[in-house]
Amino acid sequence: MNYEAVIGLEVHAQMLTDTKIFCGCSTKFGAEPNTQTCPVCIGMPGVLPVLNRKALEFAIRTGLATNCVISTYSRFARKNYFYPDLPKGYQISQYELPICEHGYIKIMVEGQIRKIGITRIHMEEDAGKNIHEGTGQYSFVDLNRAGVPLMEIVSEPDLRSPVEAVEYMKKLRAILRYLGVCDGNMEQGSLRCDANVSIRPVDEKEFGVKVEIKNINSFKFVEKALDYEIRRQIKVLKEDGKIIQETRLWDSGKGITESMRGKEEAHDYRYFPEPDLVPILVDQKWIDEIKASLPELPDIRRERFVSIYGLPENDANLLVSEKAIADWFENTVKLGGQPKAVANWIMGDLMKLLNAENKTIEECHLEPLRLVEMLKLVEQGTISGKIAKTVFEEMYRTNKTADEIVQEKGLVQISDSGEIEKTVDEVISKHPKEVERFKAGEEKLLGFFVGQVMKKTKGKANPQMVNELLKKKL
Ligand SMILES: [Zn+2]
Repeated sequence: MNYEAVIGLEVHAQMLTDTKIFCGCSTKFGAEPNTQTCPVCIGMPGVLPVLNRKALEFAIRTGLATNCVISTYSRFARKNYFYPDLPKGYQISQYELPICEHGYIKIMVEGQIRKIGITRIHMEEDAGKNIHEGTGQYSFVDLNRAGVPLMEIVSEPDLRSPVEAVEYMKKLRAILRYLGVCDGNMEQGSLRCDANVSIRPVDEKEFGVKVEIKNINSFKFVEKALDYEIRRQIKVLKEDGKIIQETRLWDSGKGITESMRGKEEAHDYRYFPEPDLVPILVDQKWIDEIKASLPELPDIRRERFVSIYGLPENDANLLVSEKAIADWFENTVKLGGQPKAVANWIMGDLMKLLNAENKTIEECHLEPLRLVEMLKLVEQGTISGKIAKTVFEEMYRTNKTADEIVQEKGLVQISDSGEIEKTVDEVISKHPKEVERFKAGEEKLLGFFVGQVMKKTKGKANPQMVNELLKKKL
């Protein structure tokens, strides 16, 4: 029997507000433990929370960008559970009346566009953090994170494979970053997700028993954890076992998911409306204002890159995945770079150099103008495509102009036919056997001769001239 996976994601995004959701404490990451707290966010009795207007605006922005309906009436609830990092015993979250509902985003998988439903987006406060490592016989609690505003973005169970789940996550991250409502930093936990996954026989309508995988904090782990879990569930069913409804944890070290708690131990949160916060009334005029202030989002930008610059869909999709990269591309083209050539240099050499140093494009000093200047040298035949790679890497490191680098390192392409002819003659006389084979009809040896000439000239010979001269002389 063939099975298909049914996946839904609950993504937690930390909002980029300066202060917490119900008090004025700073949300800055990495401060000394418990230095960014007050009676409200540590949950002292008798205090009153006040909603941060910026957090509400960010949630609305996100809802509008993901095609949601914005509720003009919503409210907060208390989600009751006891845990050391949540001293007041409940988390303030939205429950039956969330701020955004019924949206969708589009993802591209293997060149096909898929629409993934968004059930709801609600606001809530983050909990604190327990610290066990390196503390000997004690555990400590850091409440700097308590009260940091979160959005929980819940998808419909519309995803059918780990790859789709990753694409969805990447698209969501891109949108949040374009909007400036979340930095998307998964290493620091600003973006993390829980996945609900079940399997069912292909063509079956009914859902299988779902398993929840908690707290996955990288794209790689989303793919690996789901992949493992789907295979595990298929194995259980094939061996006539039963999938049990449970919560599992992804162990990235072992590369497996492990049971954390079963359904019977599941929390009963006893939600009830938060009595200390009034219901949220949002007027349509404000929603319209926020809508008018939205930036150009990745989908629209991708379409524009395809129609205006003639880029292939996949190139455009890759470039718009990060706003800064799309900006860099567009700046370079505006300065006179040929769009497809610029896209190739960004997606190839530039990405490779950035990845090798784990840097973002904002952290690199290379200016768009430098690439334009270099492309001109290639066009004019001053440097070969191969030399250009060396020049590009040097530009990336120093932001010197291509001209400077070419002069300094003596990289000018040799287009002097006399000089190339001399090298061609040398190569031919050094390889009599290959010459004979070539003459006997083994034409692909031409590549060998070209390679030898290039090697001798350190890649500087004009390839076209080398080809012509070799053909003439052989
Ligand atoms: Zn506070």
